[in-house]
Amino acid sequence: MLPFGARLREQRLVIRFALASLVAFVALGIALSAIIARQFRLRGEAQAKAHATFVTDSILRHELERADLRGPIDPSSKRFRQLSAFVRSRILEGAGASEFKVVRIKIWGKTGTVLFSDARALVGMNFGLEDDIREAFEGIPQAGVSNLTAAENVDERGLADKLFETYVPLRLDGKTGPADAVVELYQDYAGIQREITDGFRTVATALLIGLAVLYVLLLPIVFRTSRTLSEQNVRLGQQAHRLEELLQKEQQRVAELRELNRLKSNFVAVASHELRTPLTSIIGYAKTLRQPQFADDGASRREFLEAIERQGDRLFQLVENLLMTSHLEDSVLKLSISSFSFPELVRDVVEGLGSSRDQVKLALAPDLPSLLTDRQYVAQIAQNLLNNALKFSGPGAECEFGARWFPGSLVFWIADHGIGIPSEEVGRVFERFYQVDSSSTRRYGGIGLGLSLVQNLVDALGGTVEVESQLAAGSTFTVTLPLVHPSVAERYGAGTRGGGASDPGSNGHRAPAAAVESGVPAAAQTA
Ligand code: ADP
Repeated sequence: MLPFGARLREQRLVIRFALASLVAFVALGIALSAIIARQFRLRGEAQAKAHATFVTDSILRHELERADLRGPIDPSSKRFRQLSAFVRSRILEGAGASEFKVVRIKIWGKTGTVLFSDARALVGMNFGLEDDIREAFEGIPQAGVSNLTAAENVDERGLADKLFETYVPLRLDGKTGPADAVVELYQDYAGIQREITDGFRTVATALLIGLAVLYVLLLPIVFRTSRTLSEQNVRLGQQAHRLEELLQKEQQRVAELRELNRLKSNFVAVASHELRTPLTSIIGYAKTLRQPQFADDGASRREFLEAIERQGDRLFQLVENLLMTSHLEDSVLKLSISSFSFPELVRDVVEGLGSSRDQVKLALAPDLPSLLTDRQYVAQIAQNLLNNALKFSGPGAECEFGARWFPGSLVFWIADHGIGIPSEEVGRVFERFYQVDSSSTRRYGGIGLGLSLVQNLVDALGGTVEVESQLAAGSTFTVTLPLVHPSVAERYGAGTRGGGASDPGSNGHRAPAAAVESGVPAAAQTA
C-alpha cells in the first residue's frame, strides 16, 4: 500500500498524462485528417481528369472529323446539330459515372476560337490562347477547379456552384505529338466532392476509432507504470532515509570515538602525574628516614611513616580504581555476595581514611538492617564518594556520612560543603575520565575514574546513585541499594526482598542472614 502522498502524486501524474496524451492524440487526429483529406481531394480530382481524358479519347475523338476542326462549326448547320445530339446523348447525359458527370464541353481551335460547344452561343467566339489551352495544345492535359471569372465562363456560371475543368489535347489519329484541338470539359464539382467526402469519411472514422482504442489501451499501462514508479520512489526514499540514519549514527560514533581518544590521551597524562605525586612523597620520606639524625627521633619517624602510609593508601586507591575500571572494560566484574552489617562497613571505611577520619561525621539510623550483597563493592563506592567529599572541600572541612533504611532498601549519602559542581556539569560527572576541571593547572588531584566506577558498581549491585550540588555550597551523593542483591532475591524468591520480609521491625534485618542460613553460601560468586 502506497503512502497517501505517493498516491496523490501518482494520481496527478496519471491525470497529467491523460490530458497531455489526449491533446497529442487530438492534434495527431487533426493533422492526419488534413493529410487524408488532401490525398482524397487529389485522388478525386485525378479521377475526374482521367474521366475527362477518357471521354475525349474514347468517345468524342471517334465522332470528330478533321473537317470539323478547320473552323467554328456553324450552329445552324446539320453537322452542328448532329454533333450536338451525339454530345448530349453520349457525353452530357449518357456515359460515365454520375459523380464525374460532364456538364459542358468546348472544343478550342489553335487560335483560341471555340470550334464547337454544346452552348451554341459560344461557338465562333475567340477568347485568346490562355496558358491552360496553350499547354494542352503542347500535349499536356491541364485540370483544376474553375473560378468561373474568365469571360469564356459567362455561360457556365449557372451550371453549378463549382466546376472542375479539364483541357485535354485532342489528336484525331490517336498518336502522340501536337494536338489538333483542345477539348475543354466541365464537371460538376459536387459529384467529385461527394466521392472525396465518402472516401475521407470511411478512412477518417477508422483512424479516429484506432486512435481512441490506442488511447484507451494506453491509459491502464500508464497507470500501472506510474504505480510501479511511485512504489520504487517510496522504496528509494525509505532506503535513502535509512542510509541517512546510518550515516548520522556513524558520524556520531566517530565523534564519540574521537572524544574517547582525546579523553584517553588526557587520562595518560593525568594518571602518570597522579601516580608520580604520592610516589615522589614516599621516596622523599623514605630517604629522609634513612638519614642518621632521624634514627633516634621517634616522633619524626612516626610522622614520616604515617605520611608514607597515607601516600601508600592514596596510591593503593588509585591502582584499585584503575584495576576495577579495566575489569569493567573486560566485563569480568565478579560479585562476592555475603551478609554484613552496614555500620561496621562504614566504620572500616572511615578508619581507612587515616588522619582525615575525624572530618567525617556519621548520621547512621539506629537498627540498620544487614545487607546481603557484595561488601567490597559497597566499601569501594563509599570510599570513592568520601575521598571526593574530602578532596573537594577545604582542608579540615567536615562532611557527613549518613544512612537510613526503607523496606527492601538502604539509602546512604555523603554530603560535603565543598566547591560544588556547576549545574550544567552535574549530568556528566559519572562519565568515565570526566573532570569538571581537567586543566593541567587544576587544584585537585584525581584521574576522573572514581564516579564512573561508583556508577558501575551501583549498577552491578542493582541500586542507583544521584547527586545534588550547588556551586560553592557543596554536594550530596545519595546511593540506594537493595538489601538483598537481586541475583539472590531472584534465586530464593521475593520473600527475601523488600516489604515485610526485610522489615527490621519484624524479622527483616535477619532476612538476608536467613537466606544465607537456608543455603546461600556466605560468599556466592556471581558473574
Ligand atoms: P576525580 O578523580 O577527578 O575525582 P571522579 O570521577 O571521582 O574523578 O569525579 C569526577 C569529577 O566530578 C571530579 O573531577 C570533580 O570535578 C567532580 N566531583 C566529584 N565529586 C565531587 C564533590 N564532592 N564536590 C565537587 N566536585 C566533585
